[in-house]
Amino acid sequence: MNAEQINLFPPSQNTPNTKIEEFVESLELLTQEIQELYCLDHIPWVIGYSGGKDSTATLQLIWNAIAKLPPEKRHKKIHVITTDTLVENPVVSAWVKKSLEKMQEAAKTQNMPVQAHLLVPEIAQTYWVGLIGKGYPAPRHKFRWCTGRLKVDPSNRFIRNVVRSSGETIVVLGTRKTESANRAAIMEKRELKRVREHLCPHPHLPSSLLYTPIESWTTDEVWLYLMQFENPWNYSNKDLFAMYRGATADNECPLVIDTSTPSCGSSRFGCWVCTLVDSDKSLTAMINNDEEKEWLQPLVDFRLELDIWNDHDKRDFRRIFGTVQLFERNVDGETSVEPIPGPYKREWREYWLKRVLEAQQQVRKNAPPDMRDITLIQPEELSEIRRIWLEERHEFDDSLPRIYQEVTGEPFEDPRPGNNAMLGVDEWQILEELSEGDMMYLELMTKLLDTERQYKTMSRRTGIYDTLERCFETSSRSQSEAIANAHYQRNLKQAAKEGKVEDIKKIVNGEKPEPPQQLNWASLKFS
Ligand code: SF4
Repeated sequence: MNAEQINLFPPSQNTPNTKIEEFVESLELLTQEIQELYCLDHIPWVIGYSGGKDSTATLQLIWNAIAKLPPEKRHKKIHVITTDTLVENPVVSAWVKKSLEKMQEAAKTQNMPVQAHLLVPEIAQTYWVGLIGKGYPAPRHKFRWCTGRLKVDPSNRFIRNVVRSSGETIVVLGTRKTESANRAAIMEKRELKRVREHLCPHPHLPSSLLYTPIESWTTDEVWLYLMQFENPWNYSNKDLFAMYRGATADNECPLVIDTSTPSCGSSRFGCWVCTLVDSDKSLTAMINNDEEKEWLQPLVDFRLELDIWNDHDKRDFRRIFGTVQLFERNVDGETSVEPIPGPYKREWREYWLKRVLEAQQQVRKNAPPDMRDITLIQPEELSEIRRIWLEERHEFDDSLPRIYQEVTGEPFEDPRPGNNAMLGVDEWQILEELSEGDMMYLELMTKLLDTERQYKTMSRRTGIYDTLERCFETSSRSQSEAIANAHYQRNLKQAAKEGKVEDIKKIVNGEKPEPPQQLNWASLKFS
């Protein structure tokens, strides 16, 4: 290392001008601190590694510190965990997976107690199962359903398992105070709760302590360290720098331990589908800076299509369980009471499925040979989406295999075969004809028939009447009748809450318009 190399990374205006000697000295102190903490007890360490600069620097620092200890002192396990959301930027995802492989090899040859783990969300909790299967709208700040399921849960599950087998764990993160004022405030608050030197309790997991060795480093210092010290598991830090270069923001998506991270997508290491950021910087920058990355364009197009501000016309007027919920809306001083939009309608769930399969076909065709087996949506996710559509949405015409075959030209091999054969496309078409375009009537009939079918295969039919009644509650009114009924209920509740007896009388006696009464099982059968 020499002074000239440092000039490659001139300090920015808002970061202190750390001199090389001071930095090397602080590295030595940090190495000592890590060694002392490691040797102090038998509590296993779990390091969050995303493949980005901060977590790479943290892991490299720890690796180098532990490697300097004699082998007999490297007594406790260091788990390196990476969460793959299954919707990662494919280039970054391939980079991280390769890094984990290299890490595992190097740990073996260097006799390091490091074990790498690639964590994924449970199939029922993945992005596609949420968006296409259940119809959750593309995540927004007000409805950010993704981070917990895709990032926090897999790592927390792993940490809990380590606690279960070892009693305690120390979680090591590459978070830094200079990332943002908000991050600094959170970290300073945690510092006040420190139970041991350098360690504070994990905010959500019992028996877990947090250690953030590079908390006071600036971005320049992180790059300085990565560029001047070789990667100990033989993975190129220069290539990492090249991946970062050319983008406006260089935040990475660290191991997310809670949803307080403003948007884990505003980084080069977020999900390619992320709609919490204005544009996907990593993909767009990669394509702009490198002609050979043009094959990623279908992913950018898909994200853009998903990221429309007002998607209400694509969504059901009822919430996911079929009820109409109203909210007061204020636009430019004008208030109105409107239904809260629910999940994507069937045609849009099917459309997103078609689009993601098309994008997969396109990238497989145009990607370089080593990326041709790229999978944007896993067969297990397709199977779970199919199950939800069949069993929870009662869409027994089973459209998923048809869409899959249309787009890919191949039959869908369900990893969990065992589909209902009693109701199918023929029965669906007959009901469609009988409904004469009345979609609510079609929904009601298909739900009733399929509910009966589901109970037929059960050994006990207890609860069937309640379930049938719920079908009427959610699907026997037209959209306008259901919304009118929600207003009626709301007005009644409001009047009762405010003790307005006259208003209640008017509503109950029908002076204010009352919506038509709902159909029910008995009226349909016996009237
Ligand atoms: S990167 Fe975006 S889509 Fe992915 S978990 Fe974070 S907020 Fe959600």
